[in-house]
Amino acid sequence: MSDVIQLLPDAIANQIAAGEVVQRPASALKELLENAVDAGSKKIQVMVKEAGKMLIQVIDDGKGMSMTDARMSFERHATSKIRASADLFAIRTFGFRGEALASIAAVAQVDMKTRTTEAELGSHICIEGSEVKKQELTTCPVGTSIAVKNLFFNVPARRNFLKSNAVEMRHIVDEFQRVALSYPEIAFTLYQNDMELFNLTPGKLSQRIVGLLGKAYQGQLVACEENTPLLNIKGYVGKPEQAKKTRGEQFFFVNNRYIKSNYLHHAVLSAFEGLISSDQHPFYVLFLDIDPVHIDINVHPTKTEIKFDDERTIYGLVRSAVKQSLGAHNVVPTLDFSFDVNFAENWKNDEAKKQEVSRENSYKTFSTPTFKKPDPTGWEKLFEGNNSAVELDRLDRSHAEDDTELLTFSSKANTSDKKEPVSNPGETEDTGATFQVGLAYVVAQMSSGMLILDQQASHERILYEKFKRQLENSSGASQQCLFPQNIDLSPADFSLVMDLKEELTNLGFLVAEFGQNAVLINGVPADITINNEKALFEALLEQYKHFKSELSLDRKENLARSLAKKSSLKRGTKLNSREMETLVGQLFACQNPNYGLSGNKTFIKLDTNKISGFFS
Ligand code: ADP
Ligand code: MG
Repeated sequence: MSDVIQLLPDAIANQIAAGEVVQRPASALKELLENAVDAGSKKIQVMVKEAGKMLIQVIDDGKGMSMTDARMSFERHATSKIRASADLFAIRTFGFRGEALASIAAVAQVDMKTRTTEAELGSHICIEGSEVKKQELTTCPVGTSIAVKNLFFNVPARRNFLKSNAVEMRHIVDEFQRVALSYPEIAFTLYQNDMELFNLTPGKLSQRIVGLLGKAYQGQLVACEENTPLLNIKGYVGKPEQAKKTRGEQFFFVNNRYIKSNYLHHAVLSAFEGLISSDQHPFYVLFLDIDPVHIDINVHPTKTEIKFDDERTIYGLVRSAVKQSLGAHNVVPTLDFSFDVNFAENWKNDEAKKQEVSRENSYKTFSTPTFKKPDPTGWEKLFEGNNSAVELDRLDRSHAEDDTELLTFSSKANTSDKKEPVSNPGETEDTGATFQVGLAYVVAQMSSGMLILDQQASHERILYEKFKRQLENSSGASQQCLFPQNIDLSPADFSLVMDLKEELTNLGFLVAEFGQNAVLINGVPADITINNEKALFEALLEQYKHFKSELSLDRKENLARSLAKKSSLKRGTKLNSREMETLVGQLFACQNPNYGLSGNKTFIKLDTNKISGFFS
């Protein structure tokens, strides 16, 4: 019997390999994008027609190829990226198998123009089904433009296997997103049938996320960062209340390569435990940077799977990094306000209204030099205690100790002259998510049950932490009294006031000596509601003296506590829904939201489980 084994012709071998590398238009796009990134491009343009079935074109401004390289690039196992097997373990570039272009050219009509900076003329190569149809010199810009036309034109079975344009386009966008996310410093555009889908300018990761996924992500990102000798983790997770029922916006990158890992996904989920319900999926974009010796990415041709040599440690690190960024140790419940996506907007409007209101009240608000303008931006306040939440345009600004103005509770406790609350009545009423019980407790929904806040204890905690900060930073603002108040004091109290003058000023009290044992109150803290400045000041002094003898607190601690106690919202005060929601938000922005000033609880949680327990 004669010998029967023959080597396959290259064209057929390439077609077989193509079956692994190029499953659909999106996989071709992925390879082209990765090559463009590997070439050091600053700007990458993508054009597709008929969801990539008719055309996928990628134009980059990278280093381009010489005439010989241009031809070589279509040979199988032709790569400039690894030279020896040792390099396989130090892979930092996307490509390394040297089979993408060969595979694509085996199953499509490829038209490539490329030029290096040194060369005056570029190369133009046309290949159809592995057959070189044209190779000539051409004029073209530096960089590479590759057009892949009529994918699978010579493999009808595969072409028929492609899904609808909508489905294939979804895959294209997915691949585009993954690459664009991992290179926010590169500009990307994506056109479909001449329509612009994305136009991404170079910027920071957070801006790229918003550019790709939409404005709803603004103010919803919690920064995550952890550096260890084995692994660095960087990126963002979405706030728990933003988690969705459908998966899809979870991105892991290892050394900037998108990977899928159920194991690591689980690590993130476990960090969200208790914060979202089990059928929800949190958003995340996490970049793991690890020495390539610890990973093997060569386990699958499309390279989205990965093996770590020490999976368990990596699991633990990812979990703790995310947990930390969520401030899970701080008991941050998930709140389920009906308008949470637009909350940042609403808050801003509210802030504007509030400022108008204070002008109408003819307060003259002026500030000490260190006082920053309030710029509350929504739910990141929930996390501000940990300084882990960021808002996009605030990333640059160094404001670790940002002193944000708190909402003024303008409803008065039990008083008859009911002034309308800051927001328009009716407009914010009854979002259904929060309500008040017995004019003393605020009930808020969270995804896993509900929260019941003691409004007075909570507000005391909020104010206390705020005053504490102001005292540390000398950052309290004042509102000028309409009629300066003259207060006669005992000699002991007078000297106490003089002694505390600096701290009082830091809180926003403008106190001047006014003859023997008398002071004039010209201004009071800007952001508390005061009916009677004189009464507040006297009460503050009494409380201070009381705490001093009882608890021997240091002066700042004592002042912050005393003022918080005396100026807080009391039981019996009616709150509108905006005020309730702000109260909840501000409480969980506290460093220590769990306890009030006398060690009493500020809130309790009733999980759905617990509630159902009541009925069984
Ligand atoms: P790999 O990326 O795995 O090396 P490819 O088949 O994707 O294999 O590409 C082969 C080679 O062609 C690359 O190693 C690179 O040298 C060159 N190449 C491909 N695309 C580009 C591009 N857009 N710019 C510059 N060089 C490119
Ligand atoms: Mg490649």
